[in-house]
Amino acid sequence: MNKNHPNAWYSLRRTLPPWKFRETLADLLELAPRFQIDEVIVKIDTEEFSHGHPSLEWAKQYQTMLFEVKERLAELGIVYSLNPWITAGHADRGRNDLERLPGLECMVGHDGSETKHCACFLSPVWRKHIKALWEIYAETRPHIMWVEDDIRTFNHEPVAFGCFCPRHLRMFGERIGRPVERGELVRAMLSPGDAHPWRREYLEMQREIMVETASFLAKTVHAVSPETCLGLMSSGPRLHCLEGRDWTRLAEALADGTALYSRPPMANYAEDSMRGLYYSQDSIKLTRSVLPAGTIEQTECENVPFTRFSKSVKFTFLEIAVSFAYGSDGVTLNLFDHMGTPMRTEEHFGRMLAEKKAYLSALLRATRPAGKFYGVRLLHAPEASIVKHLEPGADYKDLAEDGYEMMLALECHGIATTFEESNVAALAGETARGLSDDELRQLLKGGLLLDGPAAKILIERGFGNEIGLEWVAAPVNRRDLPYLVSAEEFHHPDFGGSPRKYLTATLPFLDGEARFCDLRLQPGAEEISSWVDPDTRRVAPAMSFFENREGGRVAVHALEFRTSVGYSFCHPFRREELHGVIDRLAGGTAPLRFDCDGAYALAWRKQAGADTILGVFNLNLDDWTRGVFTLAWESATLPEVLLLNGTGEWEKLEGIQPETVPGGIAIRIFRRITSDLPLVLKLIPPNGKQQNSSGKPNAENRPLS
Ligand SMILES: [Zn+2]
Repeated sequence: MNKNHPNAWYSLRRTLPPWKFRETLADLLELAPRFQIDEVIVKIDTEEFSHGHPSLEWAKQYQTMLFEVKERLAELGIVYSLNPWITAGHADRGRNDLERLPGLECMVGHDGSETKHCACFLSPVWRKHIKALWEIYAETRPHIMWVEDDIRTFNHEPVAFGCFCPRHLRMFGERIGRPVERGELVRAMLSPGDAHPWRREYLEMQREIMVETASFLAKTVHAVSPETCLGLMSSGPRLHCLEGRDWTRLAEALADGTALYSRPPMANYAEDSMRGLYYSQDSIKLTRSVLPAGTIEQTECENVPFTRFSKSVKFTFLEIAVSFAYGSDGVTLNLFDHMGTPMRTEEHFGRMLAEKKAYLSALLRATRPAGKFYGVRLLHAPEASIVKHLEPGADYKDLAEDGYEMMLALECHGIATTFEESNVAALAGETARGLSDDELRQLLKGGLLLDGPAAKILIERGFGNEIGLEWVAAPVNRRDLPYLVSAEEFHHPDFGGSPRKYLTATLPFLDGEARFCDLRLQPGAEEISSWVDPDTRRVAPAMSFFENREGGRVAVHALEFRTSVGYSFCHPFRREELHGVIDRLAGGTAPLRFDCDGAYALAWRKQAGADTILGVFNLNLDDWTRGVFTLAWESATLPEVLLLNGTGEWEKLEGIQPETVPGGIAIRIFRRITSDLPLVLKLIPPNGKQQNSSGKPNAENRPLS
């Protein structure tokens, strides 16, 4: 695939087991064209019937089948790629490679757990074996050789985090100039407060090892098939922080001079709720932001275990639609099992792919032209895990970067987020520690939303006067606050509040384990919502707003978002609160916010050449009857608005007219919006259409709910 392919690119990930090769190949050759598949990524030795690290004899025999698959696909105009199911290994599941590969060194976890299958990346026996194995695969000259997300140092069941094997420990000992035991190293890495220097040292060592491993794999492939591109499956940058990943160097090493393909995770291996798609869109945007420009992106749509019991056809479609709405070049589809079951037994997934191709292609073509995604900017700090302060008793997983819940808090309420430049940003938890003073100073000149712990870090760093706070206490459960908190009163009229508008403080849900930071405001800061006690007395500030001497605007919510954002956090009043706050932080109108007479919108705005694409998914089973996009708009003229219909054509629709509001425009939709299909609008620059002559807004910009 090249980046300018005109249609929604479908890459099917499919296993053809050697013991049922003829039947599954015939099924593939018959159905792939009917499903409008563009590329087949053959998965090798997959899942249930995986041999662990397959023997070279097995691979050599299977290679003849791969040559045949490639040839038969070429006759149909379908591209052939490869996806060995493992690199180091995902999970033991009872497998034992220690006998098959004498001398193999396997991963050892931070807690001393050991695997018998997942190889340490430093193991010479593993390196010798995988080199020979991948040479056999590369001889089939696939378009892409996909590297699985087991090229990481976590989730190697039963090892959660590692490697802390003797070889790794020896290497670490050389770096610090003395021998060290695993327990001592892990204790140092997880020690509370200021990060122990060994944490940086170990993560930097791990980073070097992974870059070198990626280079070794790419060079192995390229020595045999120079034109094959490498593809990288990953697990989300916030998680990769805890292994110290350097994305730029890893990507360069893996590309090794060819185009690099990226497969960001969409999660949702099974369908629990459509709200799972909040993760998916975030993963696409964040993974893209850490990879070099020009990386070709094919998201990972996956269904485990591959029937409608785990995921509906509709959800599968929405996942693909999210991919193209958020600008991906293609999708990889892992929709059929790896146990030899013909695809025809779950043919409804394939019928959907064919039926929706025109629509998805139109979505791809609309979103593709150059331009940024608008929204509240979320911050990612590559060194977040290296500098994070842990609390006493912290677990290894607590090293991961904070920030996911800030995204949820905004997106669940129809406020678009982005990792690109924006005049308003949001920062939560310990991630603030990973930003330099200059980066923080720059953020404080625009609009900035902080949660309690992020505000606490800014005060420690000397920015109290810029955020309008005297002090912020460490987060505690409300049972440990010096006052009784029953609810948040959202009362400030300038932010859409009014007296006795209450939001529950039992967060994130009935368990009530959310943590609160006690805030003390500086003179000049406004208390825009307050904690109230059972007698509705205001006992402490819940949210503050402050305009600093640089003209920057800062809002602080006293909650620790990491522990607070859940069902109870989301509320129509919360939507009003956050919409009001983000508008003020943006100095007028948010980059994009969406309001409706229902819940759980997922809205986006993309500049696409001269046009603007706006869209919204309804991630709720209830239909909406109306909605409104409100967005900052610099042009003095109003755009024309087209709507994408279900067959992929753009229609001019009566009843959708933009109107001016202070600092922007609003587009009111009066039509049924269901979860079946996103509502997508194209805003075309006007041909001389002028704003109403007074220049004043022609409608009051108030929330719908
Ligand atoms: Zn090791």
